[in-house]
Amino acid sequence: MEVYDVVIIGAGHNGLVCAAYLQKAGYNVLLLEKRSILGGASTTEELMPQAAPGFKFNPCAIDHLFIFLGSVIQELELYKYGLEYLFCDPVVFCPHPDGKYFLAHKSVEKTCAEIARYSQRDAQKYSEYVKYWHHFIGSVIPYFNAPPKSIVDIIGNYDLKKLQDLFSLLGGPNETLDLLRTMLTSPIDNINEYFDSEFLKAPLARLSAELSSPPSQKAMSFGAMMMVMRHHPGQARPRGGTGALTEALVNVVKSQGGVILTDQHVEKVLVDNGQAVGVRVAGGKEYRANQGVISNIDAKRLFLQLMDTSDVDHADPNLRERLDRRIVDNNESILKIDLALNEPLRFEHHEHKDEYLIGSILIADSVNHVEKAHSDCVQGKIPDDDPSMYLVMPTALDPSMAPTGKHTAWIEFFAPYNITDAAGTGLKGTGWTDELKNQVADQVIDKLAHYSPNLQHSIIARHVESPAELAERLGFYRGNYYHLDMTLEQMLCFRPLPELANYKTPIDNLYLTGAGTHPGGAISGLPGRNCARVFLQEKHPISQTLKDARDSIKSTVESVFGNS
Ligand SMILES: Cc1cc2nc3c(=O)[nH]c(=O)nc-3n(C[C@H](O)[C@H](O)[C@H](O)COP(=O)(O)OP(=O)(O)OC[C@H]3O[C@@H](n4cnc5c(N)ncnc54)[C@H](O)[C@@H]3O)c2cc1C
Repeated sequence: MEVYDVVIIGAGHNGLVCAAYLQKAGYNVLLLEKRSILGGASTTEELMPQAAPGFKFNPCAIDHLFIFLGSVIQELELYKYGLEYLFCDPVVFCPHPDGKYFLAHKSVEKTCAEIARYSQRDAQKYSEYVKYWHHFIGSVIPYFNAPPKSIVDIIGNYDLKKLQDLFSLLGGPNETLDLLRTMLTSPIDNINEYFDSEFLKAPLARLSAELSSPPSQKAMSFGAMMMVMRHHPGQARPRGGTGALTEALVNVVKSQGGVILTDQHVEKVLVDNGQAVGVRVAGGKEYRANQGVISNIDAKRLFLQLMDTSDVDHADPNLRERLDRRIVDNNESILKIDLALNEPLRFEHHEHKDEYLIGSILIADSVNHVEKAHSDCVQGKIPDDDPSMYLVMPTALDPSMAPTGKHTAWIEFFAPYNITDAAGTGLKGTGWTDELKNQVADQVIDKLAHYSPNLQHSIIARHVESPAELAERLGFYRGNYYHLDMTLEQMLCFRPLPELANYKTPIDNLYLTGAGTHPGGAISGLPGRNCARVFLQEKHPISQTLKDARDSIKSTVESVFGNS
């Protein structure tokens, strides 16, 4: 049997980040990935080599924001290992049915000037909105960059600037209560408090809902971060696609001597005497882990699918039921469409400018349009009669993603995992069939063509993946693209459950990382970094605490907000 210090289940970007930190700390790490390609939801693939050779696609993540809230890039020296980020500016374009449009630049002032063309009041309010949420982001960065129950780590991450952000939000007792009140409101409540104009409210609602729930969902006002982060620290894409981030991480891990194996589907975590000691993969091969097994897949999949019930029950008799019933899943997943195009999109009804194509493009006609797009999913209905969507034309920023002069489109359409009216049919009984996913894709493309009429005749080939196929490809539980919903009751020290929230589990030497742990889904690498930190603190309590104290001083000095 091959023996390592640490075995990591899954080579998503968080598994790779965690491996890189542990390997750098002197541990001998093995990463086991079920697919033949590394990166999980952070890959770039030639999805249609026959129909569209030379076109490269990001089947999942494209726009990177959260990774700039931490220090993973600097600490792992990812730029030295091949990563290059291209920043978007403008950052968002949202055409409105009445001919107005929202064009957000990286600069808040320029964005306000765009808004002022239609509403002076909303332009002024926009700068207040950004300022408020900017302080909020500054105050939560220290929390994101620490294990959520490690008070010392969290406090150590606060520098002067972040304390100022925090105090400007808290102010006196009434301001503190008002902040709590804001946290309890929905994105729509918060957006209505600031703005009048639909052309502005709809894209803000659309971006807030990227955190996996309808914009009317209470206690989700912090979804405002999704727009505000686009101003600072900014929104970027790796040159060559999201897979370039994975490649850089793989380079770090391998350069430190780490071992990464593909086509290794972990089927069982081996437990001996209450302690994780290794894993078994499909085909029966076993790998021993002397110091720890770390899961890049979420707690539900880990404990309910990869472990003997007796091992789990022995460690915590309530855990399986709590994972099964306490964790909320709102049934929202993604139907993903990738297009190879002969020519760039043109937004003719909105005074087309090529700069519209650089950032995220939102089709969000009204707040109600966005609301329906998400609440239908919760009810198991496909909101395809009038689709709302998030799209990107990656080749506008990075022409290397397609043959010269050609383009690609990346379209994310929120759709239910289980379709209520088709229960029991289709892939895994979800209701999704090839015919249905293509019908839905037709509707989505038709809607987009209202805005960009040249789309229909410029499509060379298309690739459509249903929520059920996404779940099969990456193993996502019920197609959940963040492993677990990012609703407030499942964030911070509640993610995935309070008893599992600090990356440790009731089984000795078994750890959790990945999107299903704090601070959650998206490209950030923070769950991987925080988990490595907890692992090292457990193994070397004194030396690691001293190192962390030194690192936190260094990283706060260098952090984005500390420098600004
Ligand atoms: C369509 C889509 C679009 C998205 N767009 C964005 C975006 O623009 N910006 C953004 O920030 N985020 C986006 N996200 C979310 C983001 O991609 C994910 O939250 C993030 O990549 C998760 O990373 P991870 O490393 O935690 O997990 P994963 O990427 O899920 O990695 C887990 C790995 O484990 C492997 N695995 C699973 N089971 C086993 C097993 N039994 N044995 C071995 N290996 C196993 C999987 O194959 C996978 O490689 C998107 C997600 C999707 C699905």
